[in-house]
Amino acid sequence: MRKKFIAGNWKMFNGPAETQKFMSEFVPKMTSDLGIASNIDKGMMEVAVFAPFVSLSAAAAGKAGSGLIIGAQNMHWEKNGAFTGEVSAPMLKEIGCTHVIVGHSERRHIFHETSEELHKKLLAALDEGLKPVFCVGELLEERESGSAFDVIRKQLFAGLKAMDGMDVAEKIIVAYEPVWAIGTGKTASSEDAQEICGFIRKLIADTFGEGIAEKVMILYGGSVKPENTASILSMKDIDGVLVGGASLKPDSFLAIAKAAVH
Ligand code: PEP
Repeated sequence: MRKKFIAGNWKMFNGPAETQKFMSEFVPKMTSDLGIASNIDKGMMEVAVFAPFVSLSAAAAGKAGSGLIIGAQNMHWEKNGAFTGEVSAPMLKEIGCTHVIVGHSERRHIFHETSEELHKKLLAALDEGLKPVFCVGELLEERESGSAFDVIRKQLFAGLKAMDGMDVAEKIIVAYEPVWAIGTGKTASSEDAQEICGFIRKLIADTFGEGIAEKVMILYGGSVKPENTASILSMKDIDGVLVGGASLKPDSFLAIAKAAVH
């Protein structure tokens, strides 16, 4: 059985002081919640926070042996060099990250990151032993014109091309985030989310084999809240959630993690 992965993407919110405050409230509540704590202990669940770069050391200090995973929201593919404003995978590792988001739709559409760049970021993350959460998702007009499946296929294989199957199975998490559902309050129905997550698993099975596809963790993201988490996670190909707005406050993120206990 695949474990559940509950991830908060803070975007450009929660600076260092707010992160310290979040951790001081969230971590004791998470570790004293019997359901969450036992699921984490048994390896059935992971909880992660993807904080802004400047908040990562506060997050890493605040997690204090709790098992909370700390990740970054982006990285550059080179280890170092003349890339003003960029941060590399070794730097993220040094500060305490084990995970990194690659290809969030805000990076693809606002900052125009290309599929080729995202592929290089995935390779660089793996090379450094960071686990990427690789995001794919269609725009509203792509869904309405019937090209959602095609968009997902292209994004997925542009990222995963020529990768080793075991890396895909064990070292990469895929997140399906329909762009029209991010930060809009419009959640894809659980069935719509399942349809695309099932499609992603099938694409991976066709390319890398059934055994790999059964192992790969696939998340849904887009206006996830405490109230819709259980229904989304009841879908057979959805192994977790990537949560933006509702992960910013300790109580609502905790309620989402509680809804994932199984
Ligand atoms: C996200 O930031 O990845 C996201 C899904 O945001 P929200 O939950 O706010 O829609």
